[in-house]
Amino acid sequence: MRRIDLIVVHCSATRCNQSFPVTALIRCHADRFGFTGYHYYITRDGTVTQTRHEQLIGAHARGYNSHSLGVCYEGGLDKEGQPADTRTRNQKRSLLSLLKKLKRAHPEARILGHRDLPGVHKACPCFDAQNEYQDL
Ligand SMILES: [Zn+2]
Repeated sequence: MRRIDLIVVHCSATRCNQSFPVTALIRCHADRFGFTGYHYYITRDGTVTQTRHEQLIGAHARGYNSHSLGVCYEGGLDKEGQPADTRTRNQKRSLLSLLKKLKRAHPEARILGHRDLPGVHKACPCFDAQNEYQDL
């Protein structure tokens, strides 16, 4: 069993008015990594899809993949392509309940956003995940 001490929240870095369904994510990551890099994906309608087994190492946070889980929501860019918290009500609700569930399964894990990791120079996930989920 691999030990999970980190849950990293991401966005797909796609525009809020552009559809990026789970099939597109899987295809995109298959080309890049040969497998889907995130463990969970949440589309704009709030549907949660497990895209990788938790025991398998993902590809979402360089240097941290071996002991973390990656959770991604569809969006993260506004209509102009600028970083923005584009989470829908359904996505917020699904993300919160998924993170609660993951925290129960991995009590020692810290929840933070991709951008909160040292050395990351991107806006992902375009909101303050560390602060929002600090009490889970
Ligand atoms: Zn990210």
